[in-house]
Amino acid sequence: MDQGMLQQALTHGRRYVRYGKPAGYIPELASKNPSKLGIAVCDMKGNMSAVGDCEDKFTMQSISKVIALILALEQNGFDNVFCKVGLEPTGDAFNSTVRLDHLTDNKPFNPMINAGAIAVTSTIRGATLEERKKVCIEYARRLTGNPELDVDYEVFLSETETGFKNRAIIYLMRSNGIIEGNCEEHLELYFLLCSMACSCRDLAVFAATLANNGVSPITGEQLIQPRTVKLVRSLMVTCGMYDYSGEFAATVGLPSKSGVGGGIISCAIGQYGIATYGPSLDDKGNSIGGLKMLEYLSDSMDLNMF
Ligand code: GLN
Repeated sequence: MDQGMLQQALTHGRRYVRYGKPAGYIPELASKNPSKLGIAVCDMKGNMSAVGDCEDKFTMQSISKVIALILALEQNGFDNVFCKVGLEPTGDAFNSTVRLDHLTDNKPFNPMINAGAIAVTSTIRGATLEERKKVCIEYARRLTGNPELDVDYEVFLSETETGFKNRAIIYLMRSNGIIEGNCEEHLELYFLLCSMACSCRDLAVFAATLANNGVSPITGEQLIQPRTVKLVRSLMVTCGMYDYSGEFAATVGLPSKSGVGGGIISCAIGQYGIATYGPSLDDKGNSIGGLKMLEYLSDSMDLNMF
């Protein structure tokens, strides 16, 4: 993609970063510099264009929910995952506990909110917790094309020590039979996935792999089954931007997923994988600068899939 176009998107996004702030509820994230902003775009041949703070490392947070879902689906098959989680948007905040114990079948609404992602993570297989962690990190490395991708252990510890709401969510689901086995281990794996550190460039490769029906634009390898990609992209459209997903579909119109670390991935199917970074968040937990840059690109390049 034209570097000048990305620069314009960046200039546009910069106007808005002052209207938000970094996620405060994970202490290690609260200290991030809110004026950081970057964007990277990878096309289907693996060509990368990037501007701004595109080399900065940040934690994936909820973007890792997409990786957890893909891995769970490919390890266990659709039925064994969707008996534990639904496919419906909620309209509630991503870490909401309301309605969790009011459903007839007890399932959390979808894999893109915390409850659903924790349920999905609980199905990721491996003989031991260490092996499950290794499988997740290895897969994330392949999907991002970055063999050095690793966990930010400060963020991991910070969330492990303060993640009381996620602890409440998992035990609620344990009590109604959705979660089986050791809750603390599942939670540790969930926090580890959220704490994987990456740059916009890494995530642009991952988004491009999703946009390219599961084939890595870097290696040409089929990393995800096309059937899984279709399902994941549809959930990204309906649920990927938390309780802003409806408005985002209307204004940007691309399968996307955001994380409270400040990242957003977006897929222009068959064209581009886009990743933005800006830790200044709006009150729903989406990167304000990221949203504005995506709106700008979608408009100027006519990327809206609808
Ligand atoms: N680790 C965060 C949490 O569980 C992820 C949430 C997010 O990015 N929206 O609260």
